[in-house]
This record gives sequence, C-alpha cells and structure tokens, in this order.
Amino acid sequence: SFTIEQVKALVAEYPDFPEKGILFRDIFPIFHHPAAVECLVEHFVERIRSLDKRADVIVGLDARGFLFGPLIALKLNVPFVPVRKQGKLPGNVVSATYVKEYGPDVFDMQADSIKKGQNVVIVDDLLATGGSCKGAEDLVAKLQGNVILNAFVIKLVGLEGDKKLRAPTYALIEC
Ligand code: 5GP
Repeated sequence: SFTIEQVKALVAEYPDFPEKGILFRDIFPIFHHPAAVECLVEHFVERIRSLDKRADVIVGLDARGFLFGPLIALKLNVPFVPVRKQGKLPGNVVSATYVKEYGPDVFDMQADSIKKGQNVVIVDDLLATGGSCKGAEDLVAKLQGNVILNAFVIKLVGLEGDKKLRAPTYALIEC
C-alpha cells in the first residue's frame, strides 16, 4: 500500500513541455499503481467528508478531472458531473467563457445535472491561473448550485489562482 507522501512523489516533472519555459506536472504515474490511486482517492474523500457541509455532487473538469472525480463520487455515493469543452455534451447545456493562456474558451455543463441548492465539490488535477476552475464555478452558479470546495492534486501557488475563485481551494501538493 501507499502513503500519501509516496503518492505525491509519483508526480513527475517535465521541463519545456508542451513548450519551452513550461514545467509540466504529470499525474499519470499515480495511475500506474492501483494502490496509489486508492490512497489518493481516499485522501480526497476524507478531506471532503471533513467539510461542515455535505457534498451532494462532484464536478470534474475536462479532461484529467475525469480520472479521479468519478472515483471520489463513487466512494461518497454521490453523482459525478463532467464539465467539457464546448460542443462535446448533448442536450440542454449551460455555457461559460473562461480565460486561458492564449485567449478565451468555452466550457459546457448539462443543464439538468445540478439541482438548485446542491453543494458541489469541483475537482481537477492542477490549479494554475484559476481560469478553468472559475469557468466551472460560473457553470455551477448558473444552475444555482453552491461550490463548497475546489480540490486539486497540485496548486501552483505563485499564480494565485485562488484569488479568482469564490469557494476555498484544497491541494494535495502546493508548489
Ligand atoms: P488554469 O486554468 O488554472 O490556468 O490551468 C489549469 C488547467 O490547465 C487544468 O485543467 C490543468 O489540467 C491544465 N494544466 C496547466 N498546467 C498543467 C501542468 O503542468 N500539468 C498538468 N497536468 N495540467 C496542467
């Protein structure tokens, strides 16, 4: 079995990926070890259970939030809801524009996926500028849900992404 410190040590760093000057953090090595995934998921589940409000829904961001968001939701026995890039989700959707490095992009969420007043935890692999997570928070707000936590494996503290966000953030690794 893995300790949470051993799970953290599995995150790999790639200088100059996907382009020069970027230090890319890769969480996929965690997924090479089922026991590490189990430890990671249990860590988030405990963190979410310790909130003073009960989480009703887990929202995961396209694409790496889809890796462990459903596993957390399964353990908590609550629904998992995806946020996807525009045009990928069928049916009625709500949309929000968010700002990325090279300009705006659009996220969608299915309109019937969150009910008014539900408490939501948003999950993704990494918080950088906070643009994507802000887009997800806006979608939850459009459906009148209430974000109680934004949870990440990694937070790049220097970029101050949390300042863009309404709800508190939690990250396993701060760097
Ligand atoms: P933000 O919108 O906070 O600026 O960027 C966060 C988004 O970019 C996340 O969805 C995340 O997956 C992706 N991202 C940015 N940098 C990295 C990185 O170094 N590693 C990984 N795994 N994802 C990153």
